[in-house]
Amino acid sequence: MSDLDNSLIKRKIESQKCSKHNEKPQFIKTQKEFEIKACCEDFRTILFKKSKSIIAEETKKMMKNI
Ligand SMILES: [Zn+2]
Repeated sequence: MSDLDNSLIKRKIESQKCSKHNEKPQFIKTQKEFEIKACCEDFRTILFKKSKSIIAEETKKMMKNI
């Protein structure tokens, strides 16, 4: 995902809130991929799936632009 707009994904992920704890997650870009810090494992799993679909979506958009 190196060519993708990470700030866009970061914004989308960090705008989410845990429905149980009302806490915001943290999106951290690492060398290889990314990490998500969240208040609980359930929320983290949801966010992880969400970020994967955002990345897939953005990749598709990027392909169109080439
Ligand atoms: Zn939570």
